[in-house]
Amino acid sequence: MNLFELKKGEKAIITKVKGRGAFRKRILEMGFVSGQEITVIKKAPLKDPVEYNIMGYNVTLRNSEAKLIEVIKEKIEERKYNGVIDSNLLKSVAKKREKIINVAFVGNPNSGKTTIFNHASHSKERVGNYGGVTIKGKEAKFKLDNYTFNVFDLPGTYSITAYTPEELFVREHIFESVPDIVVNVIDASNLERNLYLTTQLIDMDIKVVVALNMFDELEKKGDIFNYELLGKMIGIPFIPTIGSKGKGINELLRKIIEVFEDKDETVRHIHINYGKCIERAIKAIQEKLKIPKNYFLTDKISSRFLAIKLIEKDKASKERIRVCENHEEILKTSKKEISRIEEALQEDSETLITDAKYGFIAGALKETLKPSTKKRKRKSDIVDSFITHKFWGIPVFIFLMWMTFFLTFKLGEYPMKWIENLVEITSCFINNHMAEGIFKDLLIQGVVGGVGGVIIFLPNIMLLFFFISLMEDSGYMARAVFIMDKAMHKIGLHGKSFIPMLMGFGCNVPAILATRIIESRRDRLITMLINPFMSCSARLPVYILFISAFFVSYQGTILFSMYVIGVLVAIITALLFKNLFFKKKDIPFVMELPPYRIPTLRTSVKHMWYRVQEYLKKIGGIILIASIIIWALGYFPREVNTSVDYDSLITKTTQEYDEIIRSTNVENKEEIKSLEKTKIQKTKKILLEKESMRLEKSYIGQLGNFIEPVMRPLGFDWKLSVGILTGVAAKEIVVGTLGVLNQVDYKKEDENASSLIVKLQNQTYRTGKNKGKKVFTPLIAFSFMIFILLYFPCIAVIVTISKESGSWRWAAFTVLYTTAVAWIISFLVFQIGSLF
Ligand code: GDP
Ligand code: MG
Repeated sequence: MNLFELKKGEKAIITKVKGRGAFRKRILEMGFVSGQEITVIKKAPLKDPVEYNIMGYNVTLRNSEAKLIEVIKEKIEERKYNGVIDSNLLKSVAKKREKIINVAFVGNPNSGKTTIFNHASHSKERVGNYGGVTIKGKEAKFKLDNYTFNVFDLPGTYSITAYTPEELFVREHIFESVPDIVVNVIDASNLERNLYLTTQLIDMDIKVVVALNMFDELEKKGDIFNYELLGKMIGIPFIPTIGSKGKGINELLRKIIEVFEDKDETVRHIHINYGKCIERAIKAIQEKLKIPKNYFLTDKISSRFLAIKLIEKDKASKERIRVCENHEEILKTSKKEISRIEEALQEDSETLITDAKYGFIAGALKETLKPSTKKRKRKSDIVDSFITHKFWGIPVFIFLMWMTFFLTFKLGEYPMKWIENLVEITSCFINNHMAEGIFKDLLIQGVVGGVGGVIIFLPNIMLLFFFISLMEDSGYMARAVFIMDKAMHKIGLHGKSFIPMLMGFGCNVPAILATRIIESRRDRLITMLINPFMSCSARLPVYILFISAFFVSYQGTILFSMYVIGVLVAIITALLFKNLFFKKKDIPFVMELPPYRIPTLRTSVKHMWYRVQEYLKKIGGIILIASIIIWALGYFPREVNTSVDYDSLITKTTQEYDEIIRSTNVENKEEIKSLEKTKIQKTKKILLEKESMRLEKSYIGQLGNFIEPVMRPLGFDWKLSVGILTGVAAKEIVVGTLGVLNQVDYKKEDENASSLIVKLQNQTYRTGKNKGKKVFTPLIAFSFMIFILLYFPCIAVIVTISKESGSWRWAAFTVLYTTAVAWIISFLVFQIGSLF
């Protein structure tokens, strides 16, 4: 029978894993090896996927995957441990006493690498409670006891093959950067699976120190673990740590120094025994590898490791030995040996190696680990039964999402006001303390006006990411993936695509980076390409402006409809892409369910601060530059020909009023005061009119007028066209641009918002066949919002897509198709709407 046929609560023993390629490898590595016991925990709301417990860890499989795993229900005899530890004592040659230690952190996702890395280096890297939070290596430097530590936090992996970008990255780092010490961070509450990676490090024959992290959880479970004995057995020192509390970190660092200095007695290189048949094959391949001509390779990479990898049919290793002169011979030998093994043992070679590794682990643990006899339901199972419940799962999820958005905007209102005031004070300060001139205009209009308009959304961004980080750190996000998997499948994506989509509501850039957790390249690309339709927070100010101006009632609904339209367009495009470009079949995936953890405030705040930094960098970089460019395009040329001579008009008005003031009774102070006021208002009005005429003739005005014909069918005038152009740099800039173009006096920030709204409402055409008509109607506003929602996301997103997809072509494609979609939908909305 197979796993799929088991009912909820039933237990069975795995006998065989069918299927092939990446799936099979992954499944084996997650512990689905023959002889393991597996329990069906529960089925998802929509019956697919199903959650299983293996080695005390919960994982989910789709039905199609479960069908590939053969099981029997009776308990079979326990496998004998035959990992005779080869005590090949290899003391390193006396080393140059260098004072720099390069350390790399490796370990399963969620084992606490980043937490320990942060504590050790006092940095603020993000931690999270789902796979793939650390997406590329991070480096930090610090000093301790005369040593300079160079530490790298590598992405989480279950093994060091080369199936995912993370694994490849870790492998390349170890081989190319050759760290002095690799710290293997292990989740002590989940030893069996975490030690799998350790067995590969043993094969690699490198210096390893194990950080036995989450030691608190092991103690809480009541397990008794003689880690010192295990350390001696496998020749790797174990240091218990509690990353989240910073415990054991110093001991860990001291141990690293000791091992580095070759002073630790525990350290030795052992061989995992793969059984006679395979060992013979390893020897045979090693003989071909270890000829003097190949020393350049085998000095760097253990020949035993390479041989084992070749037996595992590992593609990356086949590539790697291509540099050997006799590579054809090596490949021939390994091919021969593989068929000999498979013939003799009637099982494919990859499985045999994985089995042997788990056998080794099981044997090692049998002697050192005494699991607690207390059989109790794990807390997380009780919580899970509610959160991923058939009926409650989805409502709970929707409620939490709604709560997140609600609180983001509700709580964000206050700090938003403070920042607004701060911007105003800054702009006043510059105004009062600087001499008139281009530089002053640049600072006030370009820098403060542009950046200030954007920075006020910082609190919202902070809050949104704070809530998302809470969900990640607690382990809820992984459950959300579980709940959404079936629905995501309907549009041809995985549950895992859901996290980037959700993050897209905050900002598309980190969301596109988050697609790295998706193993299948096809899904990753589609998720990346549709992400710009998830309405990011930068677009919000545009909606708020236009909704406040043109929609008196149903404001909330209109806003909500923007998000819904975005999601719908994303779904439709995903379906289209899937059928047009990527017809290949799905690659199955395994999603682990990390245990629930109560997120610490410290962690979540750190996490948020990381985002804030990213946002500030964006503001300080691209937005600042764009603001200055846009300002300059609007500022020049300074002198333009207008039909009206505004300067003499101003002089005339001033003279007129001065005349009246002079003729008024000097005693009548009130009257004079009010006259002075009117004079200033009048001149200001003329100045603004002059400025608006000049703007229309400025470079940016020329640009706007140039593209206006294309935008006309959507109902947009030249000013909106300019807004669209500037929004290419960042969507936040659109509102600021409209402010400048509609002559909002920037020096009076407090009236800014309301006056822009009023200006937009009353705008009429000055010339042409529409003369006198209102520029805006609710329909045009709606059409404009849709265009802003859908077109060219922003430069940062395009750059990210280009980097993450590995090709500028996908980036160019995104530019074209999003803009085309925006144009078509806005066109339909405006044209059809105009009929009524
Ligand atoms: P990484 O994926 O290996 O980088 O893991 P992270 O450093 O992101 O940590 C994953 C989660 O485990 C975070 O929520 C940490 O706060 C938590 N964590 C880390 N170390 C410990 C520990 O020793 N005990 C407990 N209970 N939680 C920990
Ligand atoms: Mg990490």
